[in-house]
Amino acid sequence: MALRIGRAQIERVAEQHFSVPFTLLTEDRDFIARRISPLPGGFLDPAAMTFEFSCHSWIIRVDGRTVLVDPCNGNGRTRGVPQFDDSDFPYLERLAEIGVPAESIDIVFCTHLHNDHCGWNTMLRKGKWVPTFPNATYLFVDSEYRRWDTARAEPHPNDFNVSVFDECVRPIVESGRAEIVAATHSISASLSLDPATGHTEGHTMLCLTSEGEHAYFTGDVLHHPAQVSRPELHLGGCDNLETAIATRRSVCQRISEENALIFPAHFSAPHYGRITHEADEYVFVPAGARGSLGTGVIRVLSG
Ligand SMILES: [Zn+2]
Repeated sequence: MALRIGRAQIERVAEQHFSVPFTLLTEDRDFIARRISPLPGGFLDPAAMTFEFSCHSWIIRVDGRTVLVDPCNGNGRTRGVPQFDDSDFPYLERLAEIGVPAESIDIVFCTHLHNDHCGWNTMLRKGKWVPTFPNATYLFVDSEYRRWDTARAEPHPNDFNVSVFDECVRPIVESGRAEIVAATHSISASLSLDPATGHTEGHTMLCLTSEGEHAYFTGDVLHHPAQVSRPELHLGGCDNLETAIATRRSVCQRISEENALIFPAHFSAPHYGRITHEADEYVFVPAGARGSLGTGVIRVLSG
C-alpha cells in the first residue's frame, strides 16, 4: 500500500509486532468503551486485554529523495527486552520488495535514539558495525545525540538502551555518513523537523507539507490512540513525563487544527489517521474510517 500526500509517496515497512497489556495504559472501563472499543481490533483485544504494539518504519519519497523514518530494532542485537533480543526479521527484504533497496535510501531520520528507532542504522560486518544504508545521510538531532553520547562525562542510558549509541549511532558518525542537525532543520522544500521533546530529551518529529496537505511522523509522541484523548496515559520510559504529556497535547492540537495526517511509530493497523476534537477531547480517527481522508487529496495507490 502506498499513499500519496501532495507530491509525496508514503509507504510503511513492518519489522515486527507483539502484544502489550492494555492495563499498562488504563483500566478505566468507561473510557475504554467510549474511545477504544470503537477502534480497529489491534488497538484492543477485549478478551486478552492487550493491544498490538507495531514496530515499523515510514518511507517518504518526495523532492527527489527517499527518506526512511525510524529504522526499528535491527537483527542480531543483544537486548534486555525479549522482543528486541537476537531478532531475525526480513526487514531489508521487505524494503527491497517495495522497490526501496538499502542502497536507494538517501536520508535516514531517527525521531529519537531508543533501540527501536535506530537499530537498522547499522549491521555487523566482519565484527564491525557498518551503515546498513551505504548511500544515506543519517540525520541526528544535536540535543538527542548529546543526550545519549557515551563519550560524555556522565552518560545516562536507560537500562533498555545500553549499548545502542555505540552500536547504532557512533559507527555512523565514524563512517562520515552522519549530519548532526538542529531540531528545526529543513531537509527539503517539503520536509522539515520540529521539536517534540519529553519522551526523550531531543525527540523530534518530521513534518511533511506538500500541495497544501500536512502530515506528521511523530515517532513516540504517542504509542496508542488512548493517549490522543488522555495525554496523561503512558507506558513508561520517558525522559521527562511532564514534558511528554504537554508535547502530546500540543501535537494533537496542531494535527487536529491543520486536518493533518499523523503517522506514529507504533500504532497497529491501519497505522495512521487524523485527529478530531469533540466534547473537549482529541480523538484519533483511523485511516479508512468515515471522513478520515478529509479533503480527498490523499490517494491510496495500488501495489
Ligand atoms: Zn518506540
